[in-house]
Amino acid sequence: MTEPTTRLLHPSYRAPEGFEAPQRGVFKASTIFFKNVAAMRSHDWRSKEGYVYGLHGTPTSFELEARLCELEGGRHCLLTPSGLSAIALVSLALLKSGDEVLLPDNAYGPNLSLAQGQLARWGITHRLYDPLDVADLTGKLSERTALVWLEAAGSVSMEFPPVAALVAACRARGVTSALDNTWGAGLAFAPFDTGVDLSIHALTKYPSGGGDVLMGSVITRDEALHQRLQAAHMRLGFGVGMNDIELILRSLPSMMMRYRAQDEAARQLAVWLAEQPEVAQVLHPALPGSPGHAHWRALCAADGGGGLAAGLFSIILHDRYSRAEADAVCDRLRLFKLGFSWGGPISLAVPYDLASMRGGWPRHLAPGTLVRFSLGLESVRDLRADLAQALAGLPPR
Ligand SMILES: *Cc1c(COP(=O)(O)O)cnc(C)c1O
Repeated sequence: MTEPTTRLLHPSYRAPEGFEAPQRGVFKASTIFFKNVAAMRSHDWRSKEGYVYGLHGTPTSFELEARLCELEGGRHCLLTPSGLSAIALVSLALLKSGDEVLLPDNAYGPNLSLAQGQLARWGITHRLYDPLDVADLTGKLSERTALVWLEAAGSVSMEFPPVAALVAACRARGVTSALDNTWGAGLAFAPFDTGVDLSIHALTKYPSGGGDVLMGSVITRDEALHQRLQAAHMRLGFGVGMNDIELILRSLPSMMMRYRAQDEAARQLAVWLAEQPEVAQVLHPALPGSPGHAHWRALCAADGGGGLAAGLFSIILHDRYSRAEADAVCDRLRLFKLGFSWGGPISLAVPYDLASMRGGWPRHLAPGTLVRFSLGLESVRDLRADLAQALAGLPPR
């Protein structure tokens, strides 16, 4: 007969089978028990038919991986602790010294920073290509090119590239292409229909929707590619907390509604801002005249309807205003908060120093100061009034 304290640790109670509810249970573990030594010896950490160690997954992480595969149309999914670590996993898994990686010139800043920092230290070079110019990418593909990153749309200046044509150029040279699919979120278009080899997604944005979780995913359809990514994922120890996964699982069912609502709000405000005399240009892929609009239409509104877009856009304030005056517009905002990230419930504004990010002012953009807005879930009328009062504080012409 064991002592009560021991029985507390080795309980005989087993919950009955058959519990079904909208949310599944959350399975947390570092240690996972094996049935016997034979099972322990023959374990395969790669297989999702069983369990080995918390770092390689529990029913909770397998569940999110499976649902994300459904969302994006992929076959294999790996979860990482942030969107940036999903990017890092791909680059670390697929690149070695002597290789070159190509990035769009409007790439997500930290992806470029990874290339300039860690990758450069390991003898991996990078070059930037113009994502609106397939010939520019083609001309830069070389024997050393091992990976090409794509982003649709670019996360600050919002250019929408011809994704399928860029991917086809990579395929023709046998080069792996990776799409940062955070903007499309698996909703605006089906990433693998473009032919891309893998898709990374900052689940931090729309799948979370709360502004309170960091997570990333890497999804592919290709078995061999998945194996390379999975091996690097295991060696790097990119585990994810199950409570964080629970938050994502809880938010996924409302993602399409949130995406649509924020899309609609963003388009209404973008159209209104385009009419304001203080604004030199509005950068929103669904707005005619925005760089790459035709490519957005071809990929995201191919049925001739209104299509889908993330609730994210930038404006360029007229260059008659100084940087300080543009900053003051942002400081006057009350409902829009100043903060990074997007896809959450609170609307956000960020002024960017685009010239220093791009090594000069891009020729296809009007001169001025760029401010990016991401839409939350507030009333559009209140947000418009907030923007109007912030712009009204600018000095008269
Ligand atoms: C936010 C973001 C990421 C990185 O996600 P984190 O979870 O913040 O690391 C990567 N790519 C794009 C386009 C993003 O917007």
